[in-house]
Amino acid sequence: MTKEKGYGIIDTESQYHWNGIMKIEPEKVFQQALESRSLRYTKQREEILHYLLKAKKHVTPEEMYRDLNKEDPSLGRATVFRTLNLLQEAGLANKIQFADGKSAYEHKFSRPHHDHMICVECREVIEFSNPTIERLQDQITHQFEFKPLWHRHEIFGRCKRCQKQKNGKSK
Ligand SMILES: [Zn+2]
Ligand SMILES: [Zn+2]
Repeated sequence: MTKEKGYGIIDTESQYHWNGIMKIEPEKVFQQALESRSLRYTKQREEILHYLLKAKKHVTPEEMYRDLNKEDPSLGRATVFRTLNLLQEAGLANKIQFADGKSAYEHKFSRPHHDHMICVECREVIEFSNPTIERLQDQITHQFEFKPLWHRHEIFGRCKRCQKQKNGKSK
């Protein structure tokens, strides 16, 4: 049983289209990014963007393909993968790489920065953000006169449930 888990503490419930006082639409951002590559903003690309914006968890391209293909059978698997790449390049999506090579995506339109703990057994993703870690990272980059643009902090291991399963039936 996998219970539908939300993003957790970091979720910013439908605030994504507000950025300060100005309303910035993710569709506009994506459209511009596509135009700069001479690509068209198609209906299918928009469907994929909206799916990701509405998702309350990290979704795999396969899940996305399965759900969207039900609504629109003309949507191909390759389009999903390609569009996810484009969304990532446009700064609208973030890719999470699992230990087994599989991946999942989350949108990062106006979502606050956070890091991930990733289970190597069941691919559960736990989001966290810690001001001490962030501050330390700033200090370290400053020391090295390195100008950070973004960072990704991922901890791989076993979630609580999978640790229990590894230890047999012990409760
Ligand atoms: Zn697990
Ligand atoms: Zn996340």
